[in-house]
Amino acid sequence: MLIRVQGVIIRSMEYGEGGKIVTLLTESQGKTGVLIRGASKPRSRYGSLALPFTYGEFVYYKGSGLGTLSSGEIIRPHRKLRENIELAAYASYAAELTDRALQDEEAGSRIFGQLLACFGALEDGKDPQVTTHVYELKILQATGYAPVLDRCVSCGRTDGLDALAPALGGAVCQACRPDGRLVLRLGDKAMKLMRLLAAVDLRRLGEVNVGPETKAAVRRGVRALVDEHLPHRLKSRAFLESLEALGGLPVPDKPPAPEHGADGRTEGRPRFPGS
Ligand SMILES: [Zn+2]
Repeated sequence: MLIRVQGVIIRSMEYGEGGKIVTLLTESQGKTGVLIRGASKPRSRYGSLALPFTYGEFVYYKGSGLGTLSSGEIIRPHRKLRENIELAAYASYAAELTDRALQDEEAGSRIFGQLLACFGALEDGKDPQVTTHVYELKILQATGYAPVLDRCVSCGRTDGLDALAPALGGAVCQACRPDGRLVLRLGDKAMKLMRLLAAVDLRRLGEVNVGPETKAAVRRGVRALVDEHLPHRLKSRAFLESLEALGGLPVPDKPPAPEHGADGRTEGRPRFPGS
């Protein structure tokens, strides 16, 4: 059967002699694996089509197993997400989270639209941390773990919601803090922002002006929910967190022109975590 889909590459790995197997998140076929023969060879027509984060149209034969690419075309390459190390860290995390958290049948057209919007927002220069938190919340919703944020999960009150109980799946009011160890006191502002981010459609994400403390609190909350409900130990997560701990890297779009010190040595090179 010949299938024609629009899809985004969320994983790409070498296969056999010069081939690649890509995992696509598609609009109509959920999550699907496609073999692209010769994609790693220098003169392949489909070398760029097979790169991570590429949004394209893929036409492939599908029998009982893996699909095999027949033809394809790039719609939006998302090149910047591969070239800028900070954006690459966020995009890799979003892609790996999608791949690991979603079963094939959960990967519907809605989450496809949100991932595409996430990559678009990252490339268009929206706040990468806020963008990624919105996407994490969309994945929680798609997998049935949408946090309850507009009322206390314990008593249903809608005021005084300044803390989050990840294991209980949402906000708790000041009166019903079950056990201090289970509760993150994130504060009113962060809880309000989380409510806003959970409700927003990534395709309509505007500028979010938020102070560093609130942002840090939202990060604690969202990551605690992700850790509670979704697969652990994503490779991309450890790297992203090392970047976040540094407050992001000031990596420009183009490689910086080397600056030469008085002694002729090159200075001003970007520093990578662990270097
Ligand atoms: Zn309560």
